Amino acid sequence: MTDLYARHRAVLPEWLALYYRDPLELTHGEGRHVWDAEGRRYLDFFGGILTTMTAHALPEVTKAVAEQAGRIIHSSTLYLNRPMVELAERVASLSGIPEARVFFTTSGTEANDAALLLATTYRKGANQILALRNSYHGRSFSTVGITGNSAWSPTGLSPLQTLYVHGGIRGRGPYEALPDAEFIEACVADLRDVLAQTRAASVAALIAEPVQGVGGFTAPPDGLLAAFREVLREHGILWISDEVQTGWGRTGEHFWGWQAHAGNGPPDLLTFAKGIGNGMSIGGVVAGPEVMNCLDANSISTFGGSPVTMAAGLANLAYLIEHDLQGNARRVGGLLIERLRAATAGLPVVREVRGRGLMIGVELAEPDGSPSGRAAGLALEYAREEGLLVGKGGREGNALRIAPPLSLSIAEAEEGAEMLEAALQRVQAEVS
Ligand code: PLP
Repeated sequence: MTDLYARHRAVLPEWLALYYRDPLELTHGEGRHVWDAEGRRYLDFFGGILTTMTAHALPEVTKAVAEQAGRIIHSSTLYLNRPMVELAERVASLSGIPEARVFFTTSGTEANDAALLLATTYRKGANQILALRNSYHGRSFSTVGITGNSAWSPTGLSPLQTLYVHGGIRGRGPYEALPDAEFIEACVADLRDVLAQTRAASVAALIAEPVQGVGGFTAPPDGLLAAFREVLREHGILWISDEVQTGWGRTGEHFWGWQAHAGNGPPDLLTFAKGIGNGMSIGGVVAGPEVMNCLDANSISTFGGSPVTMAAGLANLAYLIEHDLQGNARRVGGLLIERLRAATAGLPVVREVRGRGLMIGVELAEPDGSPSGRAAGLALEYAREEGLLVGKGGREGNALRIAPPLSLSIAEAEEGAEMLEAALQRVQAEVS
């Protein structure tokens, strides 16, 4: 055990998730690579849990942060703040929500908390929330309380009553083999059934990740959320799209995950975080004026909209759009999925390679076909030994999560696929 690990164990909570048998200390990064304290270099296929959206140590972002820090680090939302207004204008116009207003927070958790506060207030105290099974929405009291994935929801307590509906993950039951159109029909029937068993007037909103992140990068068929929307509208229930992982072009085809479901327009509320600051803590919620302005109280966020983070967001977003990293995610992500499917076709431990853009899940199974968290754990270790960092998730902890910075090159995608293939071959030899 390294000295730092021993000190970590002594003062940090045991439940704080930490990867690897010998946990890794990262000291610096550049582009798509990071280095550990021993000087070993890794190709980063997890991007700090999707926070390093463009690239590590992107000079444009570093310069913007240094310049802003040299002027004023913090002023609070009680004063006018130019970078905050500029980033809000940018995010509002990108959001697709008419006359959008943006409230900045410092994390995805707080963004979802704010969305729940707005939705329940707008719906006059309605205290029920619809969420998808296998979902994840944060780690505050309210967001843990509505999270559907029990591995990430350590408490059964919730200030809101949550009703879980199908649609996030097919699982291994009767929904698994349904063709897309029938799956959508079954999920809509399930939603109607759940609503029929409660008082719809008490339901404030449906919150959904367009692609489940922690849940293992599983996406419902395009159009599902639009079909849900039709039903929600009949009851005046709001739709919150949790874009904490899916925003900013990560899914390749679209700038936001909700756009794969567009049908009848944008969600009522959209939450974001992770990649916008390229690692600086920015989260937020976007909504039209009617919903956003329903709170009847003074409110500030001490650190939300902090000028240094806003400067990072502005520089990062400008780079992302100027260099069409969404298009890059589509092209390189498409190639990477194909390459991984071909490389793992002969490995029964790999049950499925799925994903959109640079959000790719690799689901692992035991020889009897059951979900294998053990194989995912081994794959993480072996990939690291090959020089590749990936993430882990899924309902049974049995999916690898691949989400590199969106500037990934084709050569790096090839190199990473080879390293992952080598790691999975070792896993295969061990689990069979
Ligand atoms: N929502 C989703 C979909 C997430 O994946 C996460 C974090 O992984 C959150 C919310 C919470 O964000 P944060 O960790 O920034 O609080």
